[in-house]
Amino acid sequence: MIRRTDFRVVEKEEQSLKAQPIHKHASPAWPSCLLRLAVMICVFASYAWTAYPSEAAGAEAVVPKNESNSEKVVYLSFDDGPGKHTREVLDILREEQVQATFFVLGEEAERYPELIQAAVEEGHALGNHTYNHHYDELYSDFKSFWKQVKQTEEIVNRITGFRPNLVRAPGGTYGHFDQNYFDLLELGGYTVMDWNVDSGDSKRKGVPAKEILRNATKVPSDTSSVIVLMHDGGAHAETVKALPGIIEYYRDHGYRFDTMNAENQPVQFRVHPEGKYKSRKAPGAEWVTEHVKANRNLWLTGKELKVEIGLAAATLKQGEFRVEDQRIMVPLRPFMKKFGGSIRWDVESRTATAVWKDRVIQADSVRGELKSTSASLSNDRTIQGAVQGQGGTIWVPLRELLELMGLDVSSLQSDESEWIVKANLPLAAALNFYLYRTI
Ligand SMILES: [Zn+2]
Repeated sequence: MIRRTDFRVVEKEEQSLKAQPIHKHASPAWPSCLLRLAVMICVFASYAWTAYPSEAAGAEAVVPKNESNSEKVVYLSFDDGPGKHTREVLDILREEQVQATFFVLGEEAERYPELIQAAVEEGHALGNHTYNHHYDELYSDFKSFWKQVKQTEEIVNRITGFRPNLVRAPGGTYGHFDQNYFDLLELGGYTVMDWNVDSGDSKRKGVPAKEILRNATKVPSDTSSVIVLMHDGGAHAETVKALPGIIEYYRDHGYRFDTMNAENQPVQFRVHPEGKYKSRKAPGAEWVTEHVKANRNLWLTGKELKVEIGLAAATLKQGEFRVEDQRIMVPLRPFMKKFGGSIRWDVESRTATAVWKDRVIQADSVRGELKSTSASLSNDRTIQGAVQGQGGTIWVPLRELLELMGLDVSSLQSDESEWIVKANLPLAAALNFYLYRTI
């Protein structure tokens, strides 16, 4: 459940505890050897669902059309924290074995860094909810909104080592965002997420748990992907009380619980036609280039992925790898072939077996297990829940695969056009391999 083995991007310059400007080049330091690409790296959904909130509520029913997948998913989301009730929320989620997404405020993250850390360690996703939630600043012009997004992003990055690129607008986008806000955030590499089920826990002070439960389980018809808005800040003790019932409802109705990521199709409210932002000035082209366009380099979006193993290298183009649940996933067969491995598929057991140097790596698509055995070393290992079979292709997480290949993953670097993962055969293993082959 705790995705400790994920990749984590750590940019060297940002390990100092100062706010930093945007970096075009990430340096290769990732001390924990983890590269949790946060939600972030990602390739964006090619289209957005348009939501039509009721005028009165400001933001209500969202009915995503053309649901291709009949599987029901619920994304529980908590805004405005971390705060007084976050720990209780985390405890309930852990007990129920459910994961959620926390849209955090920078100023609260500064106050409770341990809760940010705990949320990540317990497998939840983080999103950016700006720094201080003040509408008058955030919606005066885009530059102010941007500044707070970056400020919060730096704070989260200092605490966790990754940058969330999910953004939720305080109060929702409806009546707040003009098209320019949407466009510029997308250009900068962010995915804006509103919601389609409002628990109503912040409609007024002290909304009772019963009412929160009722609202939080009012799913619009035709919606199989539900995003529930809740709050975990100081005044939301009733939300904590309602939470077990909310989880029970979705569980009983066959929903899968998941965390949001930037690859999800965004649920976004439409732009209010007569928003009070009519007089807003859009930022100039120069500012957009310097701040927003440059920002894209922080994510994997639009880049290729180059993997170097010792002296061998292979490049995976867009579509040849993907980022999911904060992990880089690669298709096993083409990946092993690129590095001179052999692979065969056993139809009966639905298991792929790859042979690479002295390693035998098996990907069991039924059990989801990825395991390695080696003829010369006794460090066999099994990783659960790592394998996905999809349309005849076996996808596995890159980091785990490299480890099972007996490699030390040493760095991740980025330049304008690609991400580079470097891995090396440890000296001892290389020697052992040599002996094994020569005996
Ligand atoms: Zn909020």
